[in-house]
Amino acid sequence: MKIYVDNAATTKMSRTAIDAMMPYMDEIYGNPSSLHSVGQSANEAITSARERMAACLGCDAREIIFTSGGSEADNHAITSAARIGERLGKKHIISTAFEHHAVLHTLNRLEKEGFEITLLDVHENGLVTPQQVSDAIREDTCLVTVMFANNEIGTIQPIEEIGAVCRDKGVLFHTDAVQAVGHLHIDVNKQNIDMLSLSAHKFHGPKGVGALYAKRGIRLTNLIEGGAQEQGRRAGTENIPAIMGMVAALEEACNHIDENAKAVSALRDRLISGLSEIPHGVLNGDAVHRLPGNVNFCFEGIEGESLLLLLDDKGVYASSGSACTSGSLDPSHVLLAIGRPHEIAHGSLRLTLSEGTTAEEVDYVIGAVKEVVEYLRGMSPVWRDLVSGKNKFVTA
Ligand SMILES: *Cc1c(COP(=O)(O)O)cnc(C)c1O
Repeated sequence: MKIYVDNAATTKMSRTAIDAMMPYMDEIYGNPSSLHSVGQSANEAITSARERMAACLGCDAREIIFTSGGSEADNHAITSAARIGERLGKKHIISTAFEHHAVLHTLNRLEKEGFEITLLDVHENGLVTPQQVSDAIREDTCLVTVMFANNEIGTIQPIEEIGAVCRDKGVLFHTDAVQAVGHLHIDVNKQNIDMLSLSAHKFHGPKGVGALYAKRGIRLTNLIEGGAQEQGRRAGTENIPAIMGMVAALEEACNHIDENAKAVSALRDRLISGLSEIPHGVLNGDAVHRLPGNVNFCFEGIEGESLLLLLDDKGVYASSGSACTSGSLDPSHVLLAIGRPHEIAHGSLRLTLSEGTTAEEVDYVIGAVKEVVEYLRGMSPVWRDLVSGKNKFVTA
């Protein structure tokens, strides 16, 4: 068995995406800025790609900037909003404690520049409320940035309502929707979103390409200086093969969004109910307001790292949380943000499914996790102290 359940880290490219890229690595290789017809065919491709993406998000093609991925889009959106705020004397930004590092580290940089950052607490269920946002907004707030869906625990935030609060108070609203796009319905106008980040490799497109949606009228600050590509907002010759693959993957995902969500969330719930049979474990994040493919548990008395290695031996490719923090021994900032104590945050397991996951695979994963957890607890001094009553269990 080889079962890939780490789709929040990255997905396998779809055949549709690969096929859409091929011509642009072969006969249609022109530079879209060239005036001759080889360049112009490339330019036409990119123009139509932009329109097709805009149709999926409910915006205008001119509001799309192609980027190198989700991280760049997050940096671009937040830096731009900060510069706009600065010019108006507004240097306060609101976000949440469980954002992706692309957001948190950008905010850290701005804080060093003199911005004041409010990170909202996340409730134990992995949600923030529109009321929290409303309460935090001040006269000098220039930006609210709240992720659409969390990459570790999969919780889906009340984006439309948060957007409404921001619109009401005249504050720019950005959302890191990297985990949501291709998996949940997006309509930037209906959802009151001013800026949105997305990344192709989270919905079966290629890596190293993404986009920023920025509502017309928002003045963007260039992160990369150079040529006049992307209407002067992002220099560098466009990565056309990747852009074409991204848009093909996005259309495919958006055309099947309801059926995919239904099938994948049924498997997710099967996995959650199987893993709930393991004693002294806890599901992280709300069971309902949750991405179709996300399962995240903490198991007491074990180390996430050893769990992952033994699962790998059994052909199950999972994660302990975010791929970006693995390799560091600190527990996940997301699990700490929802109030999980250090001792159980270390024993976390994230399993993220895709449209290709089967019920047989889910059942195999349940069996494998049960076996490995039992095995590790059998050798764990931490577990022994819990069972003997020397230390107290945190979970039921
Ligand atoms: C993956 C991810 C990113 C980063 O996207 P890249 O394209 O890998 O730079 C940002 N935010 C979230 C929520 C993600 O899951």
